[in-house]
Parts: sequence; structure tokens; C-alpha cells
Amino acid sequence: MKTFQQPYLLLTFIILALSIPVNTCNASTVLAVDHPKYLEDSPTMILSNVHIVDIENRRVIKNQDILIEGDRIREIKQHEPSPKYQSDTVIQGNGSFVIPALSDMHHHLTSSDFDFTANTPGRQAKILEEQIKYGIQGILNPNISLEAVNYLKAGSKELNEVLLEMTGPSIGPKNGWGSHQVSTKEEITTIIDTLLEMGIRTVKFTYDDMSWLGGQMPVLNSELLKHIVEYAHSKGMKTMAHVTDLERAKELLRYGLDGLVHGIVSDRVDEEFLELLKANNAFYIPTTAVYETSFNFQQSVKRQFEYNIWEEFSEEFTDSLSNDASRDMWNSWWPKAASLKTNLSHIYWNTKAVYDSGNLVMMGSDTGTPGVLPGISAYYEMELMEESGLSPYEVLECAVVSPMKYFGRYPLQGLIKNGAKANMMLLENDPTVSVRFIKSAKMVIHNGKIVSSR
Ligand SMILES: [Zn+2]
Repeated sequence: MKTFQQPYLLLTFIILALSIPVNTCNASTVLAVDHPKYLEDSPTMILSNVHIVDIENRRVIKNQDILIEGDRIREIKQHEPSPKYQSDTVIQGNGSFVIPALSDMHHHLTSSDFDFTANTPGRQAKILEEQIKYGIQGILNPNISLEAVNYLKAGSKELNEVLLEMTGPSIGPKNGWGSHQVSTKEEITTIIDTLLEMGIRTVKFTYDDMSWLGGQMPVLNSELLKHIVEYAHSKGMKTMAHVTDLERAKELLRYGLDGLVHGIVSDRVDEEFLELLKANNAFYIPTTAVYETSFNFQQSVKRQFEYNIWEEFSEEFTDSLSNDASRDMWNSWWPKAASLKTNLSHIYWNTKAVYDSGNLVMMGSDTGTPGVLPGISAYYEMELMEESGLSPYEVLECAVVSPMKYFGRYPLQGLIKNGAKANMMLLENDPTVSVRFIKSAKMVIHNGKIVSSR
């Protein structure tokens, strides 16, 4: 992708030949254009001759010019080889494909290695900032410390815009899975009140003994589970659960659960489950990437590094996570993890079944769990969703459109249209043929600024 400052075309080619990044050059120019409208009012950036992926209408709109003004798309026009409009920054798209930025709906903003203590709020803020460069510009964090919530909320407006929701610490049983461990209704009430005071709108809780991975943990009893959902609803909050067993998921949906942050792993889902999802308008986040990583640690990590297109991960880090020691560490924690091939096939089957039943599926990879790498795991999750049988357009819908609709950001975000936020990715190859072509990403734009290019 070439960015040049008109009219320094010749100079730009020399600079390119020297391999110096040119988008840092900010020469302002006086341009001789013959359309008065644009003389006074030049867009800040033009993406010239790109194909726009219109996800909702399942079509590619070919050969367009996108005029960006500040952080918004000002206008989209049929490409003109000699346009009447000019700009200081013109990106020659040469028929590359433009998609709106992605959202990852299960992202912990942690580093994905085994050093959990290193995930301080400051580091989590840095990971959040890095996601923008990958084109991940919407995040749901379903388990994060209250300290980190406060730290992130005190950060810049730009970063906070990316955080679609943070649930705070997940609620779970004493000595069980979950960060905020409780044993009484009163404790639950107090936690939910605290979350609400902090501006959190969604309560996350767990209902999993982890036996499928070789763990053996207690779970909350029905009375407490029901209280979480009912009390949260009475306060106008939504609820989402870590629940991987079909029967348990159905139980929570009967209490009124609003969403599942993992795919069902125990069985193939049935009609009753699909109907309960629909009755609650509940969402389903498959997190195929974390399951692949749990069951095939080394192979899954290696597949993700194929998406290291922005070269953010060093060779040293790549090697340390791909080696036998990391795999063995993971398998020692979860002794059954490597023997769950049948369950893995359920996960793929279930994603397609839930999508095809008309229920809401959103893309999320459980990013930041060991071996699920921030940024690239979202690309990988999209590939795995395509392997589940979703078409490329359907995967893009789950990764781009649905999250923005769910969190009320649409149509300002989640599509390429006049007046929408200029948050997008440019890909050399057509992602509607396969979402794997996200590997051909050449540029990411956020709030009308180039944040990655290669
Ligand atoms: Zn998670």
C-alpha cells in the first residue's frame, strides 16, 4: 500500500525506493484543482480506487474513492482516474478491498503467556492500544479486575471508545472457576451493586466444574445462579455466562441468561437450546480459538503466528510459546485437554447450528488466555468460524456488524458509509472469497488516521 503526498510523486517514489515509511511525511500543499467545492474543503485523506465490502448486503462495491474528513467518512464516490477532488494524503488502493474494523467479543487484554502476574492495569491498557493497530476496534472484556476497569476508564476517550463493555471480575463459587468467589446471595447483591456503581452494564458469571478439561471444581447452586440473573435484571443489567455444558446452559437460559461467552463443548446443541437462545435474544460467542489451543496447544499457537503480519510478536516470544515446555505446562494444568477431539468437532458443528437457526453469533477468541494471542487470535478465530461452515460474509457479519449492533454503535461503526467512523482495514485479496485473506491486510485506519501499514 503506497501513501504519497501530492504533488511530491517523484520524491515519494525515491523515498519508497529507500524503504523509508512515507506516511509520517506531512507536507501541506497548494493544489491546482478545477472544482471549487474541494478547493476550500479538501478531505484529509482519500482512499483511491478500492473495492468496498458491503457485509450486510453481501456484495462488493467495486472501484470506489473514499473521502475521509477527520475521523469520519465524508463521501464515497465512483473512482475517477483524474478526480476533481484532492487531498494531502492519497492512498492508492489499486483495487484492494476495504472492510470496517473488527470486534473481538471475548478479549481479556492479557498477554497470552503464562506469566499472569505481569498483567498489570498499565500493561492491559498497552495491549488495548495495540489492538487498534490490528484493526480490532471493538472489545468486550468478560473478566477483568475492578482496579483495571478504573484504570482503563480513566484513560483516553479514544481507547474507551474501543471498550464496548467490561464486565469486571466474573462471579463464581468458592474454590471454583471465577474471579469473584461467593457463597451467599448477599455477596452477589453487593458485587452487582458495586459493578453498577462503576458504570458496568453486564454481569459475567461461571457455571462450570471444568471436569471436561480434567479439573474438579464446585459450581454455584441453582438458587445463587438464579439470583445473579434476576438481581442483575432488576437493576437493568444484562448477564453473560461461562458455561460449556449443554444442560447447564439450558438451565441458565431458563433463568433468563442474555449470552454465552463460550461455545457449547459437551454435546451437539439441540432444538430446545436454540429456542431458548432465541426466546432470550441471547448471544453465542464460539471462542473456537481457545478450544483449538486447549486441545492442540502447539499446533494452534503455530497457526496463529502465521497471522503475525504486523510482526508485533518477536521470534523469541513465538519460539517460547510454540515449544514443548509451553505445551507440557498447559497439558499439566488440564490433563484431559489433549484427548477431547470429539468435543472439538461439537464446537464447530454448534457454531453453524446456532448461526443457521437465526440466533446471534459474535466473534470472540478468549484472547489473552495462554496461547491465544492478542490481535492475531481474532484473525485466526475468523478462519476457524469459516471452517465451522459459515460463509466469509457470515463470518464478517459476526466479527464486524453484529457486535456494533449489539452495543448500539451501528451505523456509526460496523460499515463503510458516508458519515460513519473511518475505522477500517485494507486487504490486498478479497475476504469474501475467504476470510483467510485477512493475511493480506496492508493497512489499518482508525479515526481517520493510518495506524498500521506494510
Ligand atoms: Zn475468557
